[in-house]
Amino acid sequence: MTSPFSKLGIIAPIEKALKTLNISDPTDIQKKAIPELLTNKKDVVALAKTGSGKTLAFGLPLLQLIDKTNPTIQAVILVPTRELGQQIHTNLESFAAQIPEIKIASICGGVPIKPQIQRLTEPTQIVVATPGRLIDLIKREAINIKHTNFLVLDEADEMVKSLGEGLDEIVKELPNYRRTILFSATMPGTIKQLIQNYMSKNVVQIEADMETIGHQGIAHEYVVVEPIEKLNVLMHFLNNRLGQRGIIFCKTKAAVNKLAKNLAINKFSSGSLHGSLSQPIRDRIMGQFREGHIDILVATDVAARGLDVKEISYVVNYHLPDVYETYVHRSGRTARAGLKGYALTILQQEEEFEIPEFEDELGIKFERYQKVNAQDLEENTTLLWAKKVFKTKPNRELSADLKEKVHTVFHHLTKEELIDKLIAFEHGK
Ligand code: ADP
Ligand code: MG
Repeated sequence: MTSPFSKLGIIAPIEKALKTLNISDPTDIQKKAIPELLTNKKDVVALAKTGSGKTLAFGLPLLQLIDKTNPTIQAVILVPTRELGQQIHTNLESFAAQIPEIKIASICGGVPIKPQIQRLTEPTQIVVATPGRLIDLIKREAINIKHTNFLVLDEADEMVKSLGEGLDEIVKELPNYRRTILFSATMPGTIKQLIQNYMSKNVVQIEADMETIGHQGIAHEYVVVEPIEKLNVLMHFLNNRLGQRGIIFCKTKAAVNKLAKNLAINKFSSGSLHGSLSQPIRDRIMGQFREGHIDILVATDVAARGLDVKEISYVVNYHLPDVYETYVHRSGRTARAGLKGYALTILQQEEEFEIPEFEDELGIKFERYQKVNAQDLEENTTLLWAKKVFKTKPNRELSADLKEKVHTVFHHLTKEELIDKLIAFEHGK
């Protein structure tokens, strides 16, 4: 029986690998992009929503189009962040699990360059790279991309925005006969320029479900708060979602640090991610988040693009993003692979006018999130306090003498009486 992927031209060993990943039916963008990339020779611009499976859509054709008996680099995939690079590298390795002759290297920044240089002396057909590290390797003449048949820009609009001239440095190393392939969920003006500058005239454009930019599976809500209650409103929200996974986006690294600290103090299972942390720390936090050891990731927009973590049930904008596209990418971390998702934006009165602007620009609708009343907020604070006490470890440095004295004070109280008194003491503060 011919399966849906083989009908698109996908070969048996890849299909077998997909089966072990529980992937059997191609998504719309995969149905459109895979045959186009496999059979035609043109440059391609592909647009499809966040979480719709774009990695497979360009990844599978690449695995089939490269000559695995040729040990030189034939495909370069450029991505905006190291985390996304690692993710795509892992994805490609898993799709190619049954074809050991295909060698894929990840050449992202933040890790020592020497092992990468060493790695590149061995056969490699595909590289997944962040631009800075790739340029560095080109300058050191440690990489040969002169025989590249395929240049893929994932998150193409972001690549153009952040790279600018840097892209020229890479492109001038590539042969003119290469195919250029752009994938993105959003395509603002800058990309049109990119198409003009780097792509052939008869480029093919593919779209899947792009009538509105916003992802249909996401419920968008917003809540207006006073600055002073912002953290409490967030913590009340988080307290109702304990055990679920989510990402909270902040505008700056400093804001990420501050919020992550507050969440840690209140014993939320959380970690932070931004560009000033060392790569081993970034890797550790991402690993813990992917594996479910921490529930909440507090991050800058370094986590907004492309990251695919299973079962992210909500995204919070603790600060509004500066550009409309970023809203799409942030909220697109939830509702992946056909699942439903939820995005909450917390803003102040003077920012509320921006909501209809986001609605108009993105073709999405926001509902108002019912802000809890003051009493509920206060009760939540007490609940958080109780959890904090519960999770506190005994202090072994306190003298036995002091402990003894404090014990004597409470000596005649039952546990219930003691708890009652503690609540009254804390709640009345
Ligand atoms: P995008 O790049 O469009 O945002 P990804 O390529 O990161 O999306 O894929 C999102 C998720 O969907 C991944 O977890 C991936 O494994 C899954 N996925 C992709 N294609 C399929 C498919 N055909 N069937 C089921 N799941 C899929
Ligand atoms: Mg992607």
